[in-house]
Amino acid sequence: MVNFVFLMSGIFCFLFFLSFSALSLFEKEYLASRRSLIAGIIISAPIIFLSQINFLYKNEFQLGFLLLVLIGIIVITLPFNLKKTPDSGNPKNKIDERDIMFSRNELAKGTENFNNYYENNPDKLSIDEEFRKQPGLLDEKSFYHNRLMASSAKASFEVVDLLTPGITGKVSDNREDFDKNRITNYIKTWTKKLGAIDVGITELKDYHFYSVAGRKTNYGKDVHNKHKYAIAFTVEMDYDMVKGGPSYPIVMESSQQYQNAGQIAVQLGAFIRNLGYDARAHIDGNYQVVCPLVAKDAGLGEIGRMGLLMTTKLGPRVRLGVVTTDITLNIDKPIIDHSVIDFCNKCKKCADCCPSSAIQSGDREDVGGIFRWQINSEACFTYWCKVGSDCGRCVVVCPYSHPNNFLHNVIRWGIGRNSVFRSFALLMDDFFYGKKPKANRIPNWLNN
Ligand code: SF4
Ligand code: SF4
Repeated sequence: MVNFVFLMSGIFCFLFFLSFSALSLFEKEYLASRRSLIAGIIISAPIIFLSQINFLYKNEFQLGFLLLVLIGIIVITLPFNLKKTPDSGNPKNKIDERDIMFSRNELAKGTENFNNYYENNPDKLSIDEEFRKQPGLLDEKSFYHNRLMASSAKASFEVVDLLTPGITGKVSDNREDFDKNRITNYIKTWTKKLGAIDVGITELKDYHFYSVAGRKTNYGKDVHNKHKYAIAFTVEMDYDMVKGGPSYPIVMESSQQYQNAGQIAVQLGAFIRNLGYDARAHIDGNYQVVCPLVAKDAGLGEIGRMGLLMTTKLGPRVRLGVVTTDITLNIDKPIIDHSVIDFCNKCKKCADCCPSSAIQSGDREDVGGIFRWQINSEACFTYWCKVGSDCGRCVVVCPYSHPNNFLHNVIRWGIGRNSVFRSFALLMDDFFYGKKPKANRIPNWLNN
């Protein structure tokens, strides 16, 4: 009997690694595929071998070994956290959108806005000179420039611009009162049918809004938005395209997902206005809200080390969309997920792989009332302007970014439950995918 259990354990172990190897092949993770096959052979062969030969105390040895494996499985799967990390808290002040890099990048030398901005922020002038010396995003002199890919990304951004007139619109005079549960469910289900992965709703707080707008024709205008609710949603960034970063596939993908998120937001806003309630879509280049803060409060995730929202299903491999509105909705609770913060404390993979060293490897700090990691956005953006794309190296190396399938979801489940499992999962991620996974894995169709 013991022999049989031992033999079956060996076979099960081999089949597990074989399936992982096949899945990795399907995901084009060739290193993981090779290593899991080798691990399967190295681990299962001795187990099968020992079940077949006879030696003194064989049964005792086998029973002891099985017991150890059982204890190991229990230890790494039971809900268990060594220590709770402090909650992130909420920002005390609003963010001025003119301080973000996209806004500073739009300032043209010699203009009134340029002069005013650097008169008020003299410390930023020399820092910003660094990105201004570089060719710029999608520029033909940039390091990874590729005409076809750059034109594709520009086309997506152009479509986003075409969506701008639809972010607000006429509200129908024919307003109807809807049952809160019914309209909330309808909006969530329909948004997913339109292509969103997750949808959450929160009541708007002051700190969700920018104080002053900083993009395009809205530059310098105070942000006024009296809506009570925000519907936040995520759209997926394609794993194969993200793996192409920091080369151009990543900017093709992010621009495409800005477009998809924008399209969904504009459509959802129009739908709500047709019901007789005001709504505004917040799309790339035309945000009034800080999307990650809204999405966090809407229960879509937690802010991780790289400063992006870490979602439960796809980690940071998403783009966000938001619609603010007056229609009365059920709100979701923010996720207070200590496991993400604990995992980021241990991991640091994004910091180690960041080509501009923009991600800190220390602990979270108090940044204006919110306890978080703050990335060096100037260093990050300067790198973008040098290579011509939005890099995304941090997103693709993140262990949370793996595809949303059964095996990776089991790992995500374990990571969420148990701090020993988190350390184990990190070791495994380094072993199977590499401590510094290969960059610029461009999809074959783009290489032709
Ligand atoms: S790579 Fe690691 S440290 Fe960075 S955000 Fe992802 S889990 Fe956190
Ligand atoms: S996008 Fe690239 S440069 Fe910017 S923080 Fe991430 S890895 Fe670093």
